[in-house]
Amino acid sequence: MDRLRVLVVDDSEDDTRLLVRALERAGQPVEWGRVESAEGFKSELERARWDAVIADYRLPHFSAPTALKQLRASDLDLPFIVVSGTVSEEVAVELMRLGAQDYLSKDQLARLAPALQREVREAAVRRARHSEAEAQRLFARVSDIVNRSLDFEHTLESAVSVAIPEFADGCILQVQEDGRTMTVTAPDASARAAGLPPSPPEVPQWDRQRLLVPLRVRGVITGQMAFVRNSEHRHFHRDDLPVAAELARRAAVALDNARLFANEQRWRLEAQEAVRARDEFLSIASHELRTPLAGISGSVQVLLRALSRGKLEEDRLQRQLRSMHESTRRLAVLTDDLLDVSRLRTGQMDLRLERVDLAELLTAVVERQQLQVTTPHKIHLEIESVGSIYADPGRIEQVVTNLLTNAVKYSPKGGEVVVRIAGDGDGALLSVRDEGIGIPVDLLQEVFQPFGRAPNASKRQIPGMGLGLYICRQLVEQHGGRIWAESDGEGCGSTFYVRLPSEHLAAVPGS
Ligand code: ADP
Repeated sequence: MDRLRVLVVDDSEDDTRLLVRALERAGQPVEWGRVESAEGFKSELERARWDAVIADYRLPHFSAPTALKQLRASDLDLPFIVVSGTVSEEVAVELMRLGAQDYLSKDQLARLAPALQREVREAAVRRARHSEAEAQRLFARVSDIVNRSLDFEHTLESAVSVAIPEFADGCILQVQEDGRTMTVTAPDASARAAGLPPSPPEVPQWDRQRLLVPLRVRGVITGQMAFVRNSEHRHFHRDDLPVAAELARRAAVALDNARLFANEQRWRLEAQEAVRARDEFLSIASHELRTPLAGISGSVQVLLRALSRGKLEEDRLQRQLRSMHESTRRLAVLTDDLLDVSRLRTGQMDLRLERVDLAELLTAVVERQQLQVTTPHKIHLEIESVGSIYADPGRIEQVVTNLLTNAVKYSPKGGEVVVRIAGDGDGALLSVRDEGIGIPVDLLQEVFQPFGRAPNASKRQIPGMGLGLYICRQLVEQHGGRIWAESDGEGCGSTFYVRLPSEHLAAVPGS
């Protein structure tokens, strides 16, 4: 027979022992406590877990009806049995009405053990039914609250506080989201003080103060949840574990839904952005391709008309052919840029690395550019001691040509362009400085993005697709280097810098 914990309300120690002996003689072991005042009764109920109360009817400073009322006022559902000497029938009826389970007279003590056992059993059934109903109510409320929002962080906040105070005094919830650990606590630091283990448990765990359960979605552990009881009189029992596990399951599902919803939203935005970028690309590319094509077509028409009239002077022929040559050159640059972007996007830009003498390479590029420049620009080349680097000469030439072409293109009034190369630690630092239209300071990084163009360039109708610097950045980064621009703003000229390491290529993708 299980030992029962019985709280006896009686002013006599001897009577109490008599009562205990009667129970033990009937084969019912007990652990007991005795009180004889309202205060004593209250504090014993709070201090320990009792299975039943056995009370004398009248005590000098206390009574069974008062104790009964006190018991009913608390949340405890304990069997209450009155064992007394002289009690009238009305009193017995009144006791039952107040909620006593049984009434026995002191000379019927042989009946006490079976009565006590029966009442304890029934109370256990009642409690189980009650806590099942309570758990169902709690689950319904949890589902309702945690599923109210599809916002991840909002769901997290709801999930951590939804079982407080009914089920726990505090709760900590930890999830892995986008590779970072998010922890929320409710209601305050007292929950946090209970702490969480570094990684979630595989199976639920419990002690009197804390229930720890893993959050699991489709068989994968995604976090952990701890429920905390920190009041002295409220402890967890093993029976609370399934409730905690169910709460965690519902929270995990709601969080998973919020996560899926957020991913879906992100994908939708990314898809919309990809469509927008593609449309922008097509519109810019076709616009840029049309301009030189229109030039070629115009020149051809002029020449045909002149031919049909039999009046094609040589200098006109030369002028038109030069213009056509310039347009085809522009078309070639545009299509090369488009091809490069596509290669970069698909990761097919391979570098052919070799020893490159930068001074020699730059001299050739500058000379070529000087021949092509028809506008009033002065291009200077300054070479300071610089050795060779390990790089793809064609791609480095492409970067320098692009920077130099831009320096000329974006200084429509002419001016000085200075190309400088110098040793820089274990690499080289190249710069191209012009006195042109400059770049608004807040767009100094933007211009390296695909289609990144500053408004002062478009406003002056300087042609461009906004891909050159993007390609330069990718190429320089593939060489393990860095590219950046400096300008004091519109009208103040610009300087572009490229820093290239001499050997740091082994770790660079595509090298
Ligand atoms: P594009 O010249 O075809 O527009 P780039 O990628 O080469 O494309 O340049 C991007 C933008 O950077 C240009 O549209 C312009 O706004 C700005 N930019 C580039 N070089 C210069 C420069 N030397 N001076 C002023 N602005 C420049």
